[in-house]
Amino acid sequence: MTAAGIPGFVSAVARRERPKHPRGARAPLDRPRAEDAVRSFLEALGQDPADPALRDTPSRVVTAWSEVLLGGYGVDPVEALGETFPLTAKGPASSVVVTGIPLLSMCPHHLLPLHGSASLAYLPRRKLPGFGRLAGFVDAWAHRLVLQEDLTRSIAADLQRALDARAVAVRLDARHFCVAVTEPAKQDARFITTALAGEGRAAQALLSEIHAALAEPRASAPSSPRAPRQR
Ligand SMILES: [Zn+2]
Repeated sequence: MTAAGIPGFVSAVARRERPKHPRGARAPLDRPRAEDAVRSFLEALGQDPADPALRDTPSRVVTAWSEVLLGGYGVDPVEALGETFPLTAKGPASSVVVTGIPLLSMCPHHLLPLHGSASLAYLPRRKLPGFGRLAGFVDAWAHRLVLQEDLTRSIAADLQRALDARAVAVRLDARHFCVAVTEPAKQDARFITTALAGEGRAAQALLSEIHAALAEPRASAPSSPRAPRQR
């Protein structure tokens, strides 16, 4: 009997031989198929894919989607956070608030971008992240097909776990192209989502710190390093 006659065996082999694909994605990128799909999409919309302006569009679209817009599936957010540093000072830890982290994600309902900024606050226990790595951590979660509400919660929960922080608060503030396109009158609408992780009361206090930092972007408390605000 050949292996093909044993369904369970075949599927086990297929599983083992399947090429490594991005974490969280259902399958590896099939570039020719993706480019064909873009070509068909253009044709179905009454466009001529042979038009010089559109000839390389399928390739460009697939590159933008696979490398950037959905590039987060190929990145482990905790690895993006990189090395953490031990908290050396004695006494209670200070909270840290970082605002103005650029946010770019794709709305899974319309396949259109949303963009804005992320604010993170954490109360460390023993570990500190490198400030420069926080943007990459946010990108690793945001560059996927994910609802903003779920994205906010994933960032909060994963940051709290990765740092073993006492508490974390996250606030995302974004404009959605799908709203601008379908409801032009609401093109300036901003969607603000928040999520907390860790010790409830401490996380709530961190969220208040984020709101205070955003209300007074130029004020600087000695214990709260803040990234430049996004314009
Ligand atoms: Zn949408």
